[in-house]
Amino acid sequence: MEKPLRLNSDKHIHFFEPNMKPAASIDVNTKFIFHTMDALEGRAFKKPDEFGPEDVNPATGPIFINGAKPGTVLVVRILAIRPVNTGYAGAGSGAQRIVRQFNISGNEIRFSDHISLEMQPMIGVIGVAPREGRYSNMVAGDHGGNMDCNLARAGATVYLPIFTEGGLLAMGDVHAVMGDGEVGGQGIEVAADIEIEVGIENWRLKRPLIETDEVWATVAAARDFMTAAWTAVGDMVGYIGMRFGLSPPEALLLVSLAGNVRVCQIVTDMPTARVELPKRTKMNV
Ligand code: CA
Repeated sequence: MEKPLRLNSDKHIHFFEPNMKPAASIDVNTKFIFHTMDALEGRAFKKPDEFGPEDVNPATGPIFINGAKPGTVLVVRILAIRPVNTGYAGAGSGAQRIVRQFNISGNEIRFSDHISLEMQPMIGVIGVAPREGRYSNMVAGDHGGNMDCNLARAGATVYLPIFTEGGLLAMGDVHAVMGDGEVGGQGIEVAADIEIEVGIENWRLKRPLIETDEVWATVAAARDFMTAAWTAVGDMVGYIGMRFGLSPPEALLLVSLAGNVRVCQIVTDMPTARVELPKRTKMNV
């Protein structure tokens, strides 16, 4: 079998913007590996206030997807996320701040003598070129970015709106494990190999949507969490209305009965929310 193409992390961005220079190009339905640095580029033990947006969350890419046209949807199938080396995570501030290293091997991460965590690698930053403006990799937006959504794991599909020719996909900020909310400010930050395959579909999407075996989830970011959550609700109402031919009030009723509003992260200037609709709901419509 042919080895997948691979892009190393020396090709990376700290901002998503419309006119980014592609680091490589790929065809749809071919496997591709993004090697990504950890969120602080291996400098975990510096103080967080010594970092500016230029230093944080490098996203490997961007990749030009052949045939991707504005107004269509980029389908990113996450085939595998393989964290490498050592991870780290910090929490707290000032004299109360701690930063710990974690050995990343196998399926368990040792937190202390008596506590271990299941490895659940996820992608913190994944996005495309926005229609306009310049978004630091510290924030999320309609283009994706720093969504820190726990559903972005191996086996999931991330749908992103395409705003520019080629889409210009980039990703990074892998966490070996992270709780919803990311309340201490970090997951276990690791370098990783992310293996994906992309497709292009012809429907309308305003903001990211993530599909797993269990759920569909709309993901939205805003200056405050309530606005993010209600934006994600509106997106889910639109999505299932389209998918199942429901009127807006019917779709809202279904989301009200079966959908779940969840936190992705609440620690940046742009908190991200998601609305999950379990797929078992499909049996009932
Ligand atoms: Ca992040």
